[in-house]
Amino acid sequence: MTTPTQLFVDGRWQSARGRSPIRLINPATGEGFVDVESAGVADVARAVESAHVAWESGWRDMTPGKRTEILYNVARKLREQQESIAQLETLQIGKPITDARDEVGLGARVFEYYAGAVTQFCGQTIPVARGGFDFTLRESMGVVAAVVPWNFPFPIACWKAAPALAAGNCVVLKPASLSPLTALALGETAHAAGLPPGVLQVLPGSGAVVGDALVTHPLIRKVSFTGSTAVGRRVMELAARDLKRVSLELGGKSPNIIFADADWQKAAETSPMSVFANTGQDCCARSRVYVERSVFEPFVDRFVAATHKLVVGDPAREETQLGPLVSAAQRAVVEDFLADARARGSRFVCGGGRPKTESRGFFLEPTVLLGVGSGDRCWQEEIFGPVVAITPFDDEATLLRDVNASPYGLSGSLWTNDLRRALRVSRAVQAGVLSVNSHSSVHVEAPFGGFKTSGLGRDLGMAAMEGYTELKNVYVAE
Ligand code: NAP
Ligand code: MG
Repeated sequence: MTTPTQLFVDGRWQSARGRSPIRLINPATGEGFVDVESAGVADVARAVESAHVAWESGWRDMTPGKRTEILYNVARKLREQQESIAQLETLQIGKPITDARDEVGLGARVFEYYAGAVTQFCGQTIPVARGGFDFTLRESMGVVAAVVPWNFPFPIACWKAAPALAAGNCVVLKPASLSPLTALALGETAHAAGLPPGVLQVLPGSGAVVGDALVTHPLIRKVSFTGSTAVGRRVMELAARDLKRVSLELGGKSPNIIFADADWQKAAETSPMSVFANTGQDCCARSRVYVERSVFEPFVDRFVAATHKLVVGDPAREETQLGPLVSAAQRAVVEDFLADARARGSRFVCGGGRPKTESRGFFLEPTVLLGVGSGDRCWQEEIFGPVVAITPFDDEATLLRDVNASPYGLSGSLWTNDLRRALRVSRAVQAGVLSVNSHSSVHVEAPFGGFKTSGLGRDLGMAAMEGYTELKNVYVAE
């Protein structure tokens, strides 16, 4: 696959009209490697209008069987392209190559799941009081805008596009400016797999220009957004003008709770990657760790020992577990948090600086902090970098008060072998995605999304597909 550099609109590569291109920097070296054309407002209008035509003139009314066949074909072609798409991901955002391959596989799985879902997705028949016959239909909406971030560019593009397409919508996909390449590869591959022209348009370009133009375009019926809480709020405000549907998957500050009765050794060994994977640039990062006091010290020792074993370095190498941060700006944001922690007297038991072994690129060591105050920025705010804070707790009630004091509520882990406690605490934690004795948050078949300022609506599972439809009720008199 050659490196894409243009917009993918109406089933072919097209030039942008008059915007300056985006220069992509390889985060592992700090060097620019390609210029990608950047869409302007006129490109947005053209892409949305022709997506609307593609919806009205075919995709909306295609038989479910045919739509299933095409979506399966997309999955198959994505698997064929797995290595070349993964290479693009590693180049543009510095994701370790083994993770990038897994994520392309995950994207393909998402298309398979929704290909199967097309014919399983049903309305209801409802026995209404006045008699007669009442049934519901799940109808497609029209053109959906998908605005995605740079941390998991490929799978998030798939988990928005696939259910929206499966439900009969057309999609205009706007990748983040730092990561347009794999979204463009998705557009081209899906078209090669038989998706008709205009059904999936891919428009790289700036959030302020393309994002705003999409969110305010009258033919966009729904905006599905993943990114920061600040931009999510703006998307919702703009969408409110004509009551567009929105789903928002935003930031998090997820707790990882370890009770003394748990297999805390296993928790300590697996927890570093629950926050440091993707170099901490993960909305589900378990960045606040609460450990019951009686096992606090041995837990920290094991956690730190496991962190020291993580392989930080060139993301193109097979053994690398942590690559660089995505950009110099993102590293500066994280270093600002570290400076705050230092100023407030937190203890750095691991990391805290740039690795000596990497002279180029935007690397940072995985960092473990103790003694972070509950009012400190590192405890309160999403850092989006390889930084974790660990604190002891004494009782469940105080623990839950602190956990739920966060304005976020995306995900969380809890470790215990007491079944009643697992159920009680799972119900009490205010978050959309919880895992007990595990850190996994994403299951293609299950809903994913947040409470409170972590978002609105759900990705994945049948819940996502419902979110890309309007619900119609039809009553037929006897
Ligand atoms: P962001 O600004 O929210 O970007 C996410 C997406 O929204 C990108 O495609 C971005 O395009 C676009 N966008 C930006 N401004 C927009 C606007 N006015 N209207 C519509 N779309 C717009 O996130 P970021 O700046 O990349 O990252 C900043 C912080 O967001 C991170 O530090 C983290 O806290 C959070 N974040 C969360 C997630 C998550 O998975 N929940 C993912 C990434 C980031 P451009 O790239 O062109 O600006
Ligand atoms: Mg931004």
